[in-house]
Amino acid sequence: PRQTMSVETGKTDPMTETDIRFPVDGRTRKMFVDGAWVEARSGKVFETRNPATGEVIGRVPRGDAGDIDIAVAAARRAFVGPWSRFKPFERQALLLRIADLFEKHWEEISRSDTADMGMPIVRTRANKLRVLGMLRYYAGMATAIHGQTIDNSLPGDIVSFTRKEPVGVVGAIIPWNAPTAASVWKIGPALATGCTIVLKPSEEAPLTPLLIADLMNEAGVPPGVVNVVTGTGPEAGAPLAEHPGVDKIVFTGSTATGQAIIRASAGNLKRVSLELGGKSPVIVCADADLDKAVPIAAMAAFANSGQICIAGSRLFVERKIHDELVERLGKFASALKIGDGADPTTEIGPLVSERQLDKVEGFLNSGRDEGAKVVTGGRRLREGSFAKGNFVEPTVFAGVSDNMQIARDEIFGPVISALPFDTLDEAVDRANATPYGLAAGVFTRDVSKAHVLSRSLRAGSVWVNTYHAIDPALPFGGYKMSGYGREGGTEQLDEYLNTKGVWIKLD
Ligand code: NAD
Repeated sequence: PRQTMSVETGKTDPMTETDIRFPVDGRTRKMFVDGAWVEARSGKVFETRNPATGEVIGRVPRGDAGDIDIAVAAARRAFVGPWSRFKPFERQALLLRIADLFEKHWEEISRSDTADMGMPIVRTRANKLRVLGMLRYYAGMATAIHGQTIDNSLPGDIVSFTRKEPVGVVGAIIPWNAPTAASVWKIGPALATGCTIVLKPSEEAPLTPLLIADLMNEAGVPPGVVNVVTGTGPEAGAPLAEHPGVDKIVFTGSTATGQAIIRASAGNLKRVSLELGGKSPVIVCADADLDKAVPIAAMAAFANSGQICIAGSRLFVERKIHDELVERLGKFASALKIGDGADPTTEIGPLVSERQLDKVEGFLNSGRDEGAKVVTGGRRLREGSFAKGNFVEPTVFAGVSDNMQIARDEIFGPVISALPFDTLDEAVDRANATPYGLAAGVFTRDVSKAHVLSRSLRAGSVWVNTYHAIDPALPFGGYKMSGYGREGGTEQLDEYLNTKGVWIKLD
């Protein structure tokens, strides 16, 4: 028997070999369409690598427009067929079974994400409660969807009411930086509302979504309700976004791809919701508790090696504490343990790909070239055990001005730009001076500043004296070019529902 550590208890639990259904061992996989495991019609596959070691850990089908057609047709048949007869309480029971299977297989899910995209295992393990919470929240919501009876003022005897109906076939396209949470954030509400779904995972991290499809199948999700088609963005993502048989696209990824998705959706005017990039500000006031603020503000930017859409990469610091805070951040950053995410002591894993590493290195060079000062980090790691992976040091830049590239563009790497400010009004204006509006952080002990700042910051989520908190019951999403639509909360379910008005004239 394998030994794995239980996150909750810290004790070892026995886990048998048979529990490992998707070993991360380089084998060739199939994708999941219409309740069956299939190859791409072309027979083509692509490789996915462990970003810490460079090792090929799987080959997956390279799906294209033909495979998307088949999956969308299966999703349509299921939507109008057997799935439409599932009662809300049956969809609820299904989601609860799925949650239980996720709980049982969480260690395998964690390892799969760590191997495929590098997230430290401590973090993938710790995401368990959040993901199970999402599934159980959607289960609860499945029986809470209802319309309203509305008294109307027209003459005659008319009964009028609204019905909430599933939008239909959903196409979901997700990035690589949190494959499990992103998959569940799309599939969960689809199942709760009675939609069917075709999920296109990122080509950088396709393995866990396939494992998730297997768990859905075991839980009893009928054929065609959840389909996972692996492939690249242009070959499989674009045909899904364009497909006339898809009623809604839900997309998480970069702002540029989001814009392409909107254009592609125009053909049949499908509904679109978008969770896009960010350049989130974190404001530290001089009255903040710095002992608490330093680690939280650091990890706001460094968690998952900065590959999080909400990364707090612009750190506005009140001038009188600027030097002290920057020095303490530098010390914190340089003490973080970098390494293979599979090592439970690793705090900073690799970047997902060499391409991403090159991009981040380009930003580090541009920061230096534009005159910012490296407080700590700033280097790609090439020595010893780092040689085969995509490792970069967590980096703090000081002496940054707002117009430098590192302070303007999304880096998606572990890089903080520290920016001093003098007044709160100035901090708000500068924090808001970005095309993005996904998230923001504030550190203060003054309740009035907390309210004023959280009200003034133009972002979909504002955290005060904390960061990264995500709850299935709270809506999450962007302002401005960080996208539209919400995930989480009742707002998310509305994204998957149509509201119909019904009028019945009584004789
Ligand atoms: P990306 O836009 O390159 O890719 C995202 C997905 O879109 C992938 O599955 C990809 O294959 C697909 N894709 C690419 N081109 C496509 C096209 N023309 N048509 C259809 N699909 C296409 O993003 P990425 O590099 O995988 O992820 C990083 C980006 O995602 C960052 O900008 C980050 O901020 C953003 N992100 C946002 C959130 C959020 O909730 N707001 C969460 C995570 C990541």
